[in-house]
Amino acid sequence: MSPRILSISDPKLRRRAAPVQSLGARETELFETMISTMRQANGVGLAAPQVGVGLRLVVIEVPSGHESDDNEEWDWDSTEIFRLVNPVILELDEYEEITEGCLSLPGFSTSIPRAKRVVAEAAGIDGKYFEINARGLLAQALQHEIDHLDGTLVSDRAGSVGAMKQVMPDWVPSSEARTRRRSDTTADSAN
Ligand SMILES: [Zn+2]
Repeated sequence: MSPRILSISDPKLRRRAAPVQSLGARETELFETMISTMRQANGVGLAAPQVGVGLRLVVIEVPSGHESDDNEEWDWDSTEIFRLVNPVILELDEYEEITEGCLSLPGFSTSIPRAKRVVAEAAGIDGKYFEINARGLLAQALQHEIDHLDGTLVSDRAGSVGAMKQVMPDWVPSSEARTRRRSDTTADSAN
């Protein structure tokens, strides 16, 4: 059974997650649990603190075409999954206002400045560090998930939870949610 995603008021989401010192079966299993939890919630990313684990682990699943600003070009039948250990952002560039939500605050979105281009570094499940040159949805997801590892939530970026806009009850805009088919949504398109 997939673990519950902690809600925005949970104090566990406010703690700074600890670096992962060694990788083993526990982390491999946690990654797979996080992926299934993220998928069940129709998310594009999940950080370990969201399932109550204070470690610097992140999963991100983005559709092919995620570098496009036009989400009609995203292909959810073909995705790329990232399992990131101790991810850090090295460079941020080309800020713009984009729509963002969080699986820990379903049904709310906000418009905040995020970099369109991100260079990040993380270890993979094999412990080897690699660089990620991201743009578009992947760049946004990296910023959102690494914020979670530092106890920062999208509502902080927006100013407060009250500054966020309520959208459809169970609809979570990106970065953590897959954008539903256009016909299903009346909310703003999520970058
Ligand atoms: Zn989130």
